[in-house]
Amino acid sequence: MVKERAIPAPLVNPETEAFWAAAKDGKFLIKRCTACGKAHWYPRGVCPHCFSEKTEWVPASGRGTIYSVSVMKRAPEVYAVAYVTLEEGPTMMTNIVECDFDKVAIGDKVVVTWRPTKDDGPPYPQFKPA
Ligand SMILES: [Zn+2]
Repeated sequence: MVKERAIPAPLVNPETEAFWAAAKDGKFLIKRCTACGKAHWYPRGVCPHCFSEKTEWVPASGRGTIYSVSVMKRAPEVYAVAYVTLEEGPTMMTNIVECDFDKVAIGDKVVVTWRPTKDDGPPYPQFKPA
């Protein structure tokens, strides 16, 4: 069994507060712009596509596809860092967990999984094979 790396509690700020509150209920939220209609990641108050401040929180499916992945096999605790493209469009940097590190690959379908964080912080989103 692979030892999981401990995750520090995320820093919560006014732009991300709603995200972490929903995370505690297992809900994965992303931001969508009501001016141009595009979703974005990471959550922020201004749309990175059109610079509108008209953004809203919307529930995401939690499903995505690995865009790129690197497995850190020489680390004390092996882990995979990846870019995952969400069904809603945005691509986010994350970790792939609960997977076979010898087989994880670009194009694999993945689904969000919530990992505990230190100091009773909100759970942290990572991805595992779908
Ligand atoms: Zn926009």
